[in-house]
Amino acid sequence: MMEKEEKWLFTLAIILLFTDFFIIIIANIIPTITLEKGNLILNLNDTYEEPGYHAHRVYLDMTNKVVIENNINTKKIGTYKVIYKIHYNGQAYQKIRYVSVLDQTPPTLTLKGANPAIICPRSKYEEEGYTSMDNYDGDLTKDVIVKNNKDHILYSVKDKSGNFSFIKREIQYQDKNAPVITLNDGNAYSLYIGETYQEPGYQATDNCDGDITKKVVVKSNLDTHKIGTYEVTYEVTDSSSNTTKMSRKIVVLGPKPSNGKVIYLTFDDGPSASITPELLDILKEENVKATFFILNRSSELDYLIKREYEEGHTVALHGSSHNYKQIYSSSNAFFTDLEIIQKKVERITGQKPMIIRFPGGSSNTVSRFNPGIMTTLTQEVKSKGFHYFDWNVGSGDAGEARTSDEVYNNVIKNLGNKNNIVLMHDFNGNYKTLNAIRKIIRYGKNNGYTFEKITMSTPEIHHRVAN
Ligand code: ZN
Repeated sequence: MMEKEEKWLFTLAIILLFTDFFIIIIANIIPTITLEKGNLILNLNDTYEEPGYHAHRVYLDMTNKVVIENNINTKKIGTYKVIYKIHYNGQAYQKIRYVSVLDQTPPTLTLKGANPAIICPRSKYEEEGYTSMDNYDGDLTKDVIVKNNKDHILYSVKDKSGNFSFIKREIQYQDKNAPVITLNDGNAYSLYIGETYQEPGYQATDNCDGDITKKVVVKSNLDTHKIGTYEVTYEVTDSSSNTTKMSRKIVVLGPKPSNGKVIYLTFDDGPSASITPELLDILKEENVKATFFILNRSSELDYLIKREYEEGHTVALHGSSHNYKQIYSSSNAFFTDLEIIQKKVERITGQKPMIIRFPGGSSNTVSRFNPGIMTTLTQEVKSKGFHYFDWNVGSGDAGEARTSDEVYNNVIKNLGNKNNIVLMHDFNGNYKTLNAIRKIIRYGKNNGYTFEKITMSTPEIHHRVAN
C-alpha cells in the first residue's frame, strides 16, 4: 500500500506527464483545410464560382490565411486544379480541388428541306441536305451518318466528346397534286356555222406521272351546224386518282361574213351526161370549186355525183322531181321529194347535204296554185336545219340567153363587190353554159374575184318570197 503523500505525488506526476504530452500534441497539430462540395464538373463556358472552404487549426479559424491558385479556363476542355494553400510554422499546407471542364452539349443537327418529306409514290427521296454544328468542334456536317430506311431517314452525329445527336426525316409517299392541263390557243374558240372544228391541242402533265397527255379524255357537245355556245371538256386522272378537268368554250357564230368580191358558181338540174363531165374537167383545170344543186337523175349518173364530191365541190339539193305541181302541193310532198335526193347523196358521198335551192327559187310564182306554200316552206326548211340559197346573178342560161356569149355577158354585167351567187345549169344539152364557163372564170380571176363553193357558213342569199 502506498502512503497518502505518495499517492498524491504519483497523481501529480501522471498529470504533469499528460500535460506535457498534451502540449507536445497541440504543438504538432497542423492546419486543416476543408473544401465545400469537393471536386467539381463544369460545362464549357460556365463561370467558376468558388464553392467555399474553411481552414482551422485546433480551435483557431485560419480561413483568411488561405491563398488560392487556379488556372481554370472554362473555354477549354480539361481538368484544372484549384490549390488552397496555407502557411504555418514555416511549412506550406495545401488542398486541391479538381475542376473538370467538359463538353456536354450535343451537336445541333438541322435538316434542309421538308420534314416530313412528301414524295411521289414509287419514287426515291433525293437528299435535300443537312448541317451539324458543335459548340466545341465546330462544323460537323461531314461527320453526319445518314441511314436510309423505307419510311424514314436517320441522321446521326457525335462530337469529339461523345455527345450524340440524331434526327429523323419521315418520308411520306403520296401524290396530292392534280395534273395540269394546258390548252393550246387559250380556252376560247369560235368558228362560223358549218366550219370544221379543229382541235388546237392540249397537254397534260403530272408532278409524279410526267406527260399524261395520252390519258386525257376529251368530250364535246359541239354542233357546228347550229349557232350557239358549246363546250369541249378535257379530263385526266393521274395514277394517284387526282383528277383535273378543263374546258374550252366553243362559240358557233352565224354565217361567215362576205369578204367582198366572191363568185359562187352554182349549177342546177344536173348531173347530165353531156355537160357535167366536161364542166368538171374545166373546173378542175381552173382549180375552181363550185356548187351543184342536183336532181334525182338516172343512177347511171351517180358517178358524177361522186366525182363532184370527190373533186371538192359542194353537192347540194335541188329536189328529186322538179315537178312544181307535185312538190309545192304540200309541205309533206316537198320534204318527201327532198328526202329522196338527200338520202341518195348521203349514200353516194357519206355526207348528208343540208344546203338546198328551191326549184324555181324561193321567189317563184309557179307555186301560187297553193297559196302561201313558199312562206311555209322557207320557214320549215330553216327549222329543219337546212340552209337555202337563191341567187343574185342570173345567167339566163335556162331562158332568154341563146348563145354562150349572152350567158357570159349576163353573168359579168351582174357581178359586183359582193357575194355573187351565179345561177347556171348543167342539164343535158346546155352547151351555152359549158362554152361560157371558162371565159367567166378567166374574167373573174382577172378582175380580182375569188371563187368559192357554198358551205354551211356561207351567208344565205334569199329572194323575197312571192307566195
Ligand atoms: Zn331548176
